[in-house]
Amino acid sequence: MYDYGKCETCDTPLEEKNIQQDFWIKEKLVVIEKVPAGVCPQCGEKVVNAEVGEHIAVLLKDSNRINKAPTISVPLIKYEAETVAV
Ligand SMILES: [Zn+2]
Repeated sequence: MYDYGKCETCDTPLEEKNIQQDFWIKEKLVVIEKVPAGVCPQCGEKVVNAEVGEHIAVLLKDSNRINKAPTISVPLIKYEAETVAV
């Protein structure tokens, strides 16, 4: 167990959780599952420790691994609402 200390924003003790984190790598959205992080139950602030941060950097540089990884589809919506026919 890593002690994440308190939230910088609201001073609430952070809880250790496995989170899903997304990154944009060269216009490609990459999601990493089960990232150990400290999460603030109050405001949702997320903090990863240095070791985890380094490991994420290694994973994201491994383009071979990214190319072979399973993909998920995500909704893509436009900011400008299209006219809905009633
Ligand atoms: Zn907070």
